[in-house]
Amino acid sequence: MIISSHVPAGAFVGMAVRSPTAALAAGFVSHLVMDAMPHWGTGPNTESEWLPIARRDGVAGLAAIALLAASAPADRRLAVLAGMTGACLPDTDKVGRYFVGSSPWPSRFDRFHERIQNETRDRLPREIATAATLIAAGVFFLRRLAVSTRSGASA
Ligand SMILES: [Zn+2]
Repeated sequence: MIISSHVPAGAFVGMAVRSPTAALAAGFVSHLVMDAMPHWGTGPNTESEWLPIARRDGVAGLAAIALLAASAPADRRLAVLAGMTGACLPDTDKVGRYFVGSSPWPSRFDRFHERIQNETRDRLPREIATAATLIAAGVFFLRRLAVSTRSGASA
């Protein structure tokens, strides 16, 4: 699944789980659950096919992290960041293989992560729409939470 979908899912986890440590762990689990759902993918050993999309997705994911963190109320920002971090961590296998030639994870975990994928090549448009919707919803709910936190503090 594209990282631009994992990021807002992690933000939702951070909204729900206020402890940064718990948000990190729950975000990590959210990644695995989402990877098991139907999504776009090209399978292993198809770098030339997925790399151009992965580059754009990485930039969009970083922008989404900044936007969602900026939208979070101050007292939830760390948990939201932790949730997003946890939600991205499993895919550091791809980043590690690309930049340094190896995954930071034990090979047993990488095999598990690969085995749970539910990918087909025709789902990219739907997945981009899902990511955009999740990011927009995350920004909406985080801003609403920030407004209610501020008005609650002043009352
Ligand atoms: Zn993954």
